[in-house]
Amino acid sequence: MNVVVGPKIGRKLITGSYVVADVMCSEDLVGAIDHALKVFDKMAHSIGPRLYSCCNCRNHVGLHDDIISKAFQGRTGRAFLFSHAMNIVVGPKEDRHLLTGLHTVADISCADCNEPLGWKYERAYETSQKYKEGKFIFEKAKIVKEDW
Ligand SMILES: [Zn+2]
Repeated sequence: MNVVVGPKIGRKLITGSYVVADVMCSEDLVGAIDHALKVFDKMAHSIGPRLYSCCNCRNHVGLHDDIISKAFQGRTGRAFLFSHAMNIVVGPKEDRHLLTGLHTVADISCADCNEPLGWKYERAYETSQKYKEGKFIFEKAKIVKEDW
């Protein structure tokens, strides 16, 4: 009792060839599985941050952890608001009337392939929209998850 019988295997013993199965303590097995799960968990976390990439050239442009909101409206559809962006080029500033009021924005594009990705909020004039200043909009259709 309290043992686990492993798979049958052919094994040459001193007294000849036998089909045997290893027997191990079931308590040890639970411990072994527990250990394996912990190692796996560690591996999953060490893969690194979840990245979003340019849809065109897979240049890394944003981190999943930097998403403030996924409920924004871009030019072509759904867009995400990010607190940070990387590997992008910020274009000239211009005033633009958006659904939420007047904003100073600058278009952003991929630093590698120049694909337009969205825009940066340089300034919001409405007090309620101030939280967007310095933040980035990425069009959902322009970015892809990088292997996750
Ligand atoms: Zn690109």
